[in-house]
Amino acid sequence: MFVDSHCHLDFPELISNLDTILENMKQNNVAHALCVSVNMPDWPNIVALIEKYPHLIGSVGVHPDYEETPEPSVEMLCEYAQHPKIVAIGETGLDYYRLSEPLDWQRNRFRVHIRAAVETGLPLIIHTRSSAEDTIKIMQEERARQCGGVMHCFTETWEVAQAAIEQNFYISLSGIVTFKNAHQLHEVAQKVPLERLLIETDSPYLAPVPFRGKLNDPSKVIHVAEKIADLRGVTLKEIEEASTENFFNLFKKAKAVNKSQ
Ligand SMILES: [Zn+2]
Ligand SMILES: [Zn+2]
Repeated sequence: MFVDSHCHLDFPELISNLDTILENMKQNNVAHALCVSVNMPDWPNIVALIEKYPHLIGSVGVHPDYEETPEPSVEMLCEYAQHPKIVAIGETGLDYYRLSEPLDWQRNRFRVHIRAAVETGLPLIIHTRSSAEDTIKIMQEERARQCGGVMHCFTETWEVAQAAIEQNFYISLSGIVTFKNAHQLHEVAQKVPLERLLIETDSPYLAPVPFRGKLNDPSKVIHVAEKIADLRGVTLKEIEEASTENFFNLFKKAKAVNKSQ
């Protein structure tokens, strides 16, 4: 079985088509999907999804791209994270691509999330774009190593991947790895230790080849796995088993939910 470690099933493009998507997941042997939170006002939609569907799990956090949105406190994140199916804090991180300085609010928000993750012991889901140096620096300053987590939709260099792995983080590859010109990412896909690899769709965005430009959904995560298998010269089964095992090793609360089913 495959697991999509990062998707946004609660977004309107996907939720309006949920029955078909869940059926496609079944067809493609995508057994679980982690529905990642991007802001607090929409978080109840994630809770509604994970409470309705046994194979969906969620996170709590506020995405760095949301500027005008209620700011979460450490206490609030810790409290919401007590939900039995909320298995991670995030997505959080830094994004200097879409927004420009002053971004102290973004860095502060990132620190709040790391503190909540360290306090709860839950892993972090980190988003970093055009901001790798500051992201790694803040992770070090806040001791993100203690909770660990995942660098989601990874698009940085192998050096940045190594720095994250050294801090107890996993590297999650999205459909971008299937793009022909993603040479830097192909190198990461070949070099990342198998026991540190996760796969994701980040749907509804970033549909992998051969669906590039179309609407993405968790059932398409198998195409990410296929490309990684190809790049590493191993079987699809090997990537399937390793990425699924890694998922449950990292998101330990998800393991408990899975066992109780
Ligand atoms: Zn993201
Ligand atoms: Zn996301």
